Amino acid sequence: MDRVADPTRMSGFNAPHCGSLRASDDGGEVELYGWVARRRDHGGLIFIDLRDRWGAVQIVFNPANASQAHERASDLRAEYVVRVAGKVERRRPGAENPRMPTGEVEVIASDLEVISVAKTPPFAIEDEVEADEATRLKYRYLDLRRPKMTRNLELRHRVVQAIHRYMDAHEFMEVETPMLLKGTPEGSRDFIVPSRLHPGEFFALPQSPQQLKQLLMVAGIGRYYQIARCLRDEDLRADRVVEITQLDVEMSFCTEEDVLGLIEGLWAQVWMDVLGVEIPTPFRRIDMQESLLKYGTDKPDLRYELEIADVSDALRETGATVLRGALDAGGVVRCLAVPGGQDMSRRELDELALLAKGAGAKGLAWVPGPLDRHLSGGEMSAIKSAARAGADDVVLVVADRRRKAETVMGLLRREIARRRKLARRGEWNFLWVYPMYLFEEDDEGKLTYGHHPFTSPWPEDMALLERRPYDVRARAYDCVLNGVEISGGSIRIHNRELQEKVFEILGMEPDRIRSQFGHLLDAFEYGVPPHGGIAAGIDRLMMAIKGTENIRDVVAFPKTQSHQDLMLGAPSPVSPEQLEELHIRVVPPKKPS
Ligand code: ASP
Repeated sequence: MDRVADPTRMSGFNAPHCGSLRASDDGGEVELYGWVARRRDHGGLIFIDLRDRWGAVQIVFNPANASQAHERASDLRAEYVVRVAGKVERRRPGAENPRMPTGEVEVIASDLEVISVAKTPPFAIEDEVEADEATRLKYRYLDLRRPKMTRNLELRHRVVQAIHRYMDAHEFMEVETPMLLKGTPEGSRDFIVPSRLHPGEFFALPQSPQQLKQLLMVAGIGRYYQIARCLRDEDLRADRVVEITQLDVEMSFCTEEDVLGLIEGLWAQVWMDVLGVEIPTPFRRIDMQESLLKYGTDKPDLRYELEIADVSDALRETGATVLRGALDAGGVVRCLAVPGGQDMSRRELDELALLAKGAGAKGLAWVPGPLDRHLSGGEMSAIKSAARAGADDVVLVVADRRRKAETVMGLLRREIARRRKLARRGEWNFLWVYPMYLFEEDDEGKLTYGHHPFTSPWPEDMALLERRPYDVRARAYDCVLNGVEISGGSIRIHNRELQEKVFEILGMEPDRIRSQFGHLLDAFEYGVPPHGGIAAGIDRLMMAIKGTENIRDVVAFPKTQSHQDLMLGAPSPVSPEQLEELHIRVVPPKKPS
């Protein structure tokens, strides 16, 4: 290690960036600091690419004019950290590398010092990586050195900076809210933190700052925002993550129009600042009922047209028993034309049927197909015309309970678009789903809230609250981009009696209401402005911008799908002493017998 330099004697903080050198730097003497990305020995000359956060530049070691540096360079290995002094020169014509932004120049080295040596990394630090994801996550600090990943982090930074600028320009005040809270229901489990000083008592980590931002409105802040961390102890489902970052917003004396307008302006600004793309506003709006009917989802992707149609009425008397059975049981029949679908093989149709069954459908029928002989001519043409099917199309038909039929059709719609590549490329399709419903059925068929229990019912539907709760619309909105929900929020209840009534309809006991929400209800008695807000998931937003389905592409230190941190080795057991101090005893789960 005798050639390893003493880092206390050098400062590269103000040195030029490797990745920033351009033809205009020609002739300049520079000192560069970075990682050896690649070394090539070319009969006498040694070339390395030196990489830093800004990119990489080619360095040339020539034994004729810097023999010591050249000799040291022959020992360089990938990922060594070095200091190079030298002169920027334009490459000779024909030797430029148009694939590198620095490719018009190279640096002729006069001096080289090794600052830190490196083991051979477990994978090459290049954009196209061969390593599996577990290895990349274990060595995340190496993975993040890959230019692609560095650029992703940088892009995220740009987006967040644009958000700060926009919110500040609109007089929103950033206020931090605590991490140690009392639970706030957002539809997931709380992560809890034991209190050492109050044995047997626990804090909850925020699923979102929902109640606090409402209390900030009671406090008169008027316009609040925060880039907030939200922690939700989710089950192991493919698209669920336990730790997210969201832009959290709340405002007073506002209507839906103010919130929607603010967020449309925000996305337009972010897209312009970061991508240089103009996003037309206002966004299209569709209500929840239409969204579920036509697209089978509350987050429709409208980069493709495919529309689902209801044909229940035309089939009430049908002789096709599968359809008739579902209708007689109060269900619906929905259909969807696959453009040019007559070229689909039987195998492909069977795969779609499998997908439908996987989502809980009893089956999938199609026209033309085996179902034809059970349908009258009138019924056949009713199905085709409802689905607006052309001569080459196949119409998929699902009969089931309404919710089930919607879900299944929604999945089929997406799958068909995926298989047939129907989504218009390069399109940013923003829309609002608004209004939504106040309540929905949970997995056990029990009534639960659609958004969260603080959402205001639609004024005209107030009379239905107790009689037909599922029909009550909510002053709630979701913003959807290319089929991904990127933000959602609502105008809130700001009246104690109404809030108590909604809690009751949700089946909460008075004691629980008092202990969990007493502070909010009390606050509503000290002068409360009408208020509403929204939260936008930054991770999802980044995924949409990058066009990736993998959240780990846009988060610096993510967890795995099984919610573990492979680099830190978390979660992990704690010492018996620590548990003792916390007054906690671990009861291991029973082994399945
Ligand atoms: N707190 C809500 C959420 O995290 C958003 C809101 O209603 O503002 O989804």
